[in-house]
Amino acid sequence: MTKTQAVIIGGGATGAGILRDLAMRGVKAVLVERRDLAYGTSSRFHGLLHSGGRYVVKDPESASECIAENRILRKIAHQCVEDTEGFFVRLPEDDPAFEQQWLAACRALGLPAAPLAPAEAVRLEPNLTPRIAAAYRVPDAAVDGFRLCWHNAAAAARHGGEVLTYTEAVGIVTDAGKVTGVAVRDLLSGETRTIACDLVINAAGSWVDKVAALAGAEVRVKPDRGTLIAFNHRFASRVINRLRPPADGDIFVPHGSVTILGTTSAAADRPDDTAPRSDEVLKLLRIGEALFENLADYRILRAFAGTRPLYSAAPGAEGRAASRAFAVIDHRAEGVDGLITVVGGKLTTYRLMAEKAADLACERLGVSVPCRTADEPLVADPAPGLLAAAKKHFPAGGAELAAARLGDAFGAVVRRLEDNPADRALICECELVTLGEIKEIAALPTTHGLGDLRRRTRLGMGTCQGAFCGLRGIGALCAAGFADQSADKLLRDFIEERWAGIRPVLWGKQLREQELLRGIYGASLNIDGAMHDEGI
Ligand SMILES: Cc1cc2nc3c(=O)[nH]c(=O)nc-3n(C[C@H](O)[C@H](O)[C@H](O)COP(=O)(O)OP(=O)(O)OC[C@H]3O[C@@H](n4cnc5c(N)ncnc54)[C@H](O)[C@@H]3O)c2cc1C
Repeated sequence: MTKTQAVIIGGGATGAGILRDLAMRGVKAVLVERRDLAYGTSSRFHGLLHSGGRYVVKDPESASECIAENRILRKIAHQCVEDTEGFFVRLPEDDPAFEQQWLAACRALGLPAAPLAPAEAVRLEPNLTPRIAAAYRVPDAAVDGFRLCWHNAAAAARHGGEVLTYTEAVGIVTDAGKVTGVAVRDLLSGETRTIACDLVINAAGSWVDKVAALAGAEVRVKPDRGTLIAFNHRFASRVINRLRPPADGDIFVPHGSVTILGTTSAAADRPDDTAPRSDEVLKLLRIGEALFENLADYRILRAFAGTRPLYSAAPGAEGRAASRAFAVIDHRAEGVDGLITVVGGKLTTYRLMAEKAADLACERLGVSVPCRTADEPLVADPAPGLLAAAKKHFPAGGAELAAARLGDAFGAVVRRLEDNPADRALICECELVTLGEIKEIAALPTTHGLGDLRRRTRLGMGTCQGAFCGLRGIGALCAAGFADQSADKLLRDFIEERWAGIRPVLWGKQLREQELLRGIYGASLNIDGAMHDEGI
């Protein structure tokens, strides 16, 4: 049995943030995640680093947390944030009285909202409808959930924090009402063991109630399902919000080379009710066309869905009526000493949630070191000499992209490219991922397949959605020693994962793209069995 001070359950932004916070305060902590980091809602979200404008009227507390954390994350995690800025746009059919209410609320919170002439808004965003009644600029931005989680984990590791992926918490061990450990199952080997600890922090997002129940405790959380669409164009350079009370399909977020539209909001049957549906996609398109009139002409890459862990101390509010604020719950009052749950909030406020949960954990452990997560950067910028050297081996812009996503591992990749010119080969053209980067990530103990590789490098997340880079990525993985898994198994797992998001958008240009992909995979690895059918 291993022993640590704290076990964190859940490897989303909140759990990874807590691991970093505790490790920086000198607390020995282990994070367990049953899949890969950011497997849950922290990657099935809109990617908006909220300015707070979305919540300023209905939920000023959340809005104020958002603007404060937005400013902090730009400072400590600029590698995960693209400073796009955002527009709030009112159309003639939207209530002008709400605009006045919104402006007054922005002023009251100190949220900068600068008016913009409609013609200027269209000049800056030429694909926007010209039917604009009013527009404002706000400090919205785009944020990468995968990168944020992994950079938090790497920052924690520098201070001794440990991450165990594909490790599920299956029991919370107590002795006379006091937590003494967590029973975990390694989902790859099937082995079960217990990690002895003084404290458990439940950061399992929409699954917090299930984790609390492992110790006989209760958390009232309602998973609320939201569906999003990724388009293959970056048809807006800024986040575009519709200026009206929050409703479905109101926000467009530019992300790298794509744009994300969402979201819906509906009570979910279960936390992993995340298969998107065509009717939700069609509904989003219908609403989104008011802001971007040519929306139907853009190719949809995929749809995806996540569940919001909406928390209510008392039963009542659901869906958009429920607060987006967060709560830190001490289960000692319920007779489970040593169990803390943190729930609700936004990805934008993950650091603050982690700080508050870690404050309580430290109080319990008798640790008086203050939180430093708002002051220290997650990842150091590469030394100017290293970046300059790297630029010789990457295509234009590729060195900066790789530095931002690789963080601490960037130097090792640059050395690979310097020493082995063949490793400079581009495996993923959409995201500018080199063979050297793939080899570096494939060698990590946390990489078990192409999905893990994708979440770290973004291979397969651009406009080809893995059609061309998937096969090359598999070649690189096999060459890196993934001999226990055959190439067609690796590919099949990857395609299955991607297919869930493509299936609900199979029409028009995406259908043609999918047929191309089927042809490529069928011919190269006989993945659909066509060669057997034809007796070849
Ligand atoms: C559709 C949608 C759009 C959103 N858009 C935005 C946005 O634009 N901006 C924003 O700021 N916020 C947004 N949010 C909210 C935000 O995504 C979430 O609040 C946030 O990601 C929650 O992070 P988390 O770490 O608390 O939970 P998660 O990311 O869900 O992490 C919980 C983790 O716990 C793991 N887990 C569960 N049970 C166990 C167990 N027994 N053992 C081990 N691991 C376990 C899960 O696998 C999961 O990875 C959106 C949410 C949705 C659903």
